[in-house]
Amino acid sequence: MTQGEGAFPEVGIAEEEYALLVEGVHKYFYMGENVVKALNGVDLAVKRGEYVSIMGPSGSGKTTLFNVVGGLEKPTQGQVYIDKTDISKLDAYELAWLRCRKIGYIFQSFNLVPIMTALQNVTLPMIFAGLDMKDRNERGAHLLDMVGLGDRLQHKPTELSGGQMQRVAIARAFANGPAIVLADEPTGNLDLTTGLNIIELLIKMNRELGITIMCNTHDLKIIDASDRIVWLRDGQVARIERKEEIHIAVGDIREAHGEGLGVEDEPTRE
Ligand code: ADP
Ligand code: MG
Repeated sequence: MTQGEGAFPEVGIAEEEYALLVEGVHKYFYMGENVVKALNGVDLAVKRGEYVSIMGPSGSGKTTLFNVVGGLEKPTQGQVYIDKTDISKLDAYELAWLRCRKIGYIFQSFNLVPIMTALQNVTLPMIFAGLDMKDRNERGAHLLDMVGLGDRLQHKPTELSGGQMQRVAIARAFANGPAIVLADEPTGNLDLTTGLNIIELLIKMNRELGITIMCNTHDLKIIDASDRIVWLRDGQVARIERKEEIHIAVGDIREAHGEGLGVEDEPTRE
């Protein structure tokens, strides 16, 4: 049996169409006598080109899942496949290569290099991927144009607004044409309108470039745009909804913000 085969029959697609497979992933943190089970048996298959939203109350394991999928943390148990590669089998060098080429990261706090211009920030991952300077600058300028910053190439992060900084980070995440872009609360540091614009931009990038996106945000707008919503609870997948069956009740959104934690057993469903 090849990796992942038969594990997700409900998805009904060929294995090579997966950008991401998460199989039986556990992540435990050992704090003295206590064990925190941040992830407690997560199975998830994400198809190429899909836009998947991760929702769940605060503490349900969303960030841990992003970190494990992105190769920033090793799972205690279970496998993560990015583009059919089992990342647990990689040595440090191979993992660095995979993270550079195959994974794009967008963080709540932007994480731009402050002394570099927008263009230098976006082209930095391309240096590691071995592109020459002409190609880097062309591609970087094109990506910055796509995110609406065609006239801000030489601006440094301090000369940009929060929304513009996140646009630079988005352009950077797509620099090397990754298999998947991971965005953990990309709108968390932005006001509502700016956050909505960022979500619209992520949807546009997903549609125009066909690149898979896994995103965690509370913005309602995303619910219409997501191909699927994965609800986490206590380190497990509580349920997965496809676009056609998505029906969100107000209680769900309160849940996703952590307000309903422990009050309701399960988010309401149709
Ligand atoms: P979310 O992003 O959904 O709010 P997290 O993945 O950040 O949730 O956290 C899930 C659980 O794991 C929480 O109980 C949190 O306290 C715990 N946790 C996360 N990171 C660590 C860590 N580095 N050490 C110990 N516990 C952690
Ligand atoms: Mg989090």
